[in-house]
Amino acid sequence: MRLLIMGPPGAGKGTQAVELAKRLGGAHISTGDIFRANVSQQTELGQAAQRFMDAGEYVPDEITNAMVRDRLTQDDAREAFILDGYPRTIDQVDTLDTILSGLGNKLDGVISLVVDPEELIQRLLKRAETSGRADDTEEVIRHRQEVYTNETAPLLEVYGSRGLVIEVDGMGEADEVGRRIVDALPS
Ligand code: ADP
Repeated sequence: MRLLIMGPPGAGKGTQAVELAKRLGGAHISTGDIFRANVSQQTELGQAAQRFMDAGEYVPDEITNAMVRDRLTQDDAREAFILDGYPRTIDQVDTLDTILSGLGNKLDGVISLVVDPEELIQRLLKRAETSGRADDTEEVIRHRQEVYTNETAPLLEVYGSRGLVIEVDGMGEADEVGRRIVDALPS
């Protein structure tokens, strides 16, 4: 199965995507994780991405798209994957369409995790106490929510018009949310 998981920062995409990839036997592809690994190793890609990430801005599409193209054409992503944190812009949607059609594949569903906005801020502030992430300060957290609302929330309409969106209530315990996702998956 080939899935996207979408939702605002703090919605729990990463936690759910890891479990789901294990369950489906596919690759978990988190653009945020790949960027952070590159920043910590100070690769060329990491150096290009870092200042955008620290400010809570999106990394420019040409950088992100090239990285995802490369990752999606690796063997472990051929049959099944869960993409977490991509696409985030309309340009990335177009690129993903092109990559997948080039491989003769298409998406099976887009999981949309829905969480109350104040709960999101509280979760991220709590994570900030231990994450060590440069983008987990209150100001940057609030900015990331705004960027999501402006740039990424509209993507749900695009995928909605293709009949792909599966809305899942993301409030409550992670295990419970995980069960809701599994129950909602296309058969
Ligand atoms: P969050 O926890 O805020 O959802 P992620 O861990 O997914 O964030 O990503 C962290 C940062 O990495 C983003 O704020 C952004 O700078 C960069 N990033 C991740 N995915 C993308 C993407 N698809 N396009 C552009 N930038 C991205």
